[in-house]
Amino acid sequence: MTSASRETSDMDQIIERAMEQNPQSRDLLKAFGPIIARQRQLTASSKLPQVDYSSIDREKLKAGIPVGGQINLFSPDDPFTEIALSLAASVKEGMPKLTEGIDRLSDLISGGKLQLADYFKRDLSNENKTADSRIEYLNISPSNASFLMSLIARVILERRAHEITEIMGGWLTWEKGYCPVCGEFPSIALIEEEGGKRFLHCSSCGQDWRFTRVVCPYCEKEASREMNYYYVENKTQESAFVCEECRKYLITLYRAGRLHARDMDISAISLVHLDMIMQGKGYEPMTSCAWNILE
Ligand SMILES: [Zn+2]
Ligand SMILES: [Zn+2]
Repeated sequence: MTSASRETSDMDQIIERAMEQNPQSRDLLKAFGPIIARQRQLTASSKLPQVDYSSIDREKLKAGIPVGGQINLFSPDDPFTEIALSLAASVKEGMPKLTEGIDRLSDLISGGKLQLADYFKRDLSNENKTADSRIEYLNISPSNASFLMSLIARVILERRAHEITEIMGGWLTWEKGYCPVCGEFPSIALIEEEGGKRFLHCSSCGQDWRFTRVVCPYCEKEASREMNYYYVENKTQESAFVCEECRKYLITLYRAGRLHARDMDISAISLVHLDMIMQGKGYEPMTSCAWNILE
């Protein structure tokens, strides 16, 4: 068995188990499952050009400037088109309603009318304004387009995050609540039963990093009585961290042992019922993901 197919079957098991444990999220897991499985496969198998990491400044990292704020995490030679078309197929599989829009987008990409390298040529100071206006000009749904772009970005960023983590020797000196690689806020946290360490997870690039439990990752307010964990009855392993200062919440899992392989993004999707409850109470997620923006 190749490593890519072994990973797929691991993912299938993780998704199956998540559906059994969280039947209320079954439809969402069915929709996102094929996409996430394909992303993991592409992250493992895509041939990416080497990026020069030598200008990453550890002092800047200590001051809280993530790697993505120092260097461009994308290379103009990244295989954007290949990754895009592969992901487009899995989006159609998981979300058949998007077929028409995604097909249109795929045609523009494979016909060279939409140059993905331009989209990812991020000017660090000026985000993505030119790329967004280009997408408008092509008359494609900005939401379909930005969804696909975020999926592509994750595949490439996750690989770069692995490489950078290796070079940095971990993220022990990183003390921020946003991601040391791409700068996004976490989508979910994990607290280990043994030792009680809290790890934050970034869904934009897949990076995990340790963060103190006594500070809000979003506004950095120190823990007090105002900081709470919200639980659903009978579910002691799943909760939402709540900060009354900034009114943000963070879905949080407790891990007892390491019985099963876990995928933090699948876990986040499995717990979307907690997102509904917290948003119903007027709190906002620390970051927007395709699955936690509820109306
Ligand atoms: Zn990140
Ligand atoms: Zn806060």
